[in-house]
Amino acid sequence: MILATVLAVPVNASELAAGTAPAYLETEKRPAILMYHAFGDDERDTFVATSVFEEQMKYLSENGYTYLFPEEIHDSDAHEKPILITFDDGYRCNYTEAFPILLKYNVKVAIFLITDRIGEPDTPGRIAKLTKEQIAEMSDSGLVQFYSHMHSHRNLVTLTAEEIREEIEMSNAIIQELTGRTPRVICYPGGGYNDEVLDIMREHFDIGFATTMPGGERNMLQLTRPLVTNDMEEFKKHITVTYPEIRPPGQDSGPMPTLAATPAFHTVLVNGEETVFDAYTINGNNYFKLRDLAYALNGTEKQFEVNWDAASNTIFLVSGECYTVIGGEMAGKGAGNKTPVPIAAKIYIDGRIMQFNAYNIDGNNYFKLRDIGQAFDFGVSWDGAKNTITIDTGKGYIAE
Ligand SMILES: [Zn+2]
Repeated sequence: MILATVLAVPVNASELAAGTAPAYLETEKRPAILMYHAFGDDERDTFVATSVFEEQMKYLSENGYTYLFPEEIHDSDAHEKPILITFDDGYRCNYTEAFPILLKYNVKVAIFLITDRIGEPDTPGRIAKLTKEQIAEMSDSGLVQFYSHMHSHRNLVTLTAEEIREEIEMSNAIIQELTGRTPRVICYPGGGYNDEVLDIMREHFDIGFATTMPGGERNMLQLTRPLVTNDMEEFKKHITVTYPEIRPPGQDSGPMPTLAATPAFHTVLVNGEETVFDAYTINGNNYFKLRDLAYALNGTEKQFEVNWDAASNTIFLVSGECYTVIGGEMAGKGAGNKTPVPIAAKIYIDGRIMQFNAYNIDGNNYFKLRDIGQAFDFGVSWDGAKNTITIDTGKGYIAE
């Protein structure tokens, strides 16, 4: 943690370019930050329909929003409604679908490139990426700035320090060559980072974008962003300018909370029958092994299937379908304290992308029981006196 306490001096964009690393946002306002990926008519929720994207940009322009690039975030107080728009992964539709709209409404956008996929065509598992020519044209427009989403898009928490440094070196060199600028802004692949990753990031970047995981916003390297969908009402909630917690000068808001998973010790009743799950308590919540839950609910009206696609690092949950046993389910209670790793996989339920806090422990995925209860609409209740959790598939989910 050599660089953990960076002196926080008020900075502006030009000082940022010179490499000053601010520890936190020294503005009264925090701009709304939006996360998009791809555009077009596609069922997947990482897509926003082009017509909806146009409606959203029109709305921002008609309602007095000022677009900021990440380096301009420190100017937030100078604008009534500052907003920062980001596109992840550098899809080709960013050029074919979104760029004409950006030009029409004069919208500024930050795009995070996966540098070893530039120019990649459409293939069954992957969506086409921007070509070098498209990147150059967008960059020349002055409306689009390109930043790093690392070289290979591997989750940084799974890499060694040396591998992370190689990723930075390769991606920065390619972006420098394409745009003439070495990026000082990073977006974590899959949103994954931890304190070790942040220590390396501080050496190279001033601003980092996560999704909403895992430690909240403690400093400028952990800005959080909601995923925009076709839902216009949800969009209007996401664009609200907020007021960040004011932190003392020279400090970020403390070390990343070290996560610990301790074996959960309660009795669990599934439809009245005592069932022993592999479960852990993390931050005061109960996380159950996903495949244990799917196994235990199989044959009930709330059964669900778990499919895993390694190529796209995606977990697909399907309600109402029988669970396919893969082995290792119901192996018993979690043993000993563990360090949970926030999972980087995308999670879909019945084709809808979900934003869950879920963790990997020793190669298995653990989900918050209440998240799964809500998603598949089964009853979850807690009897503190009896230290018992009751799962009732004959009932619907009721919020705590
Ligand atoms: Zn990505």
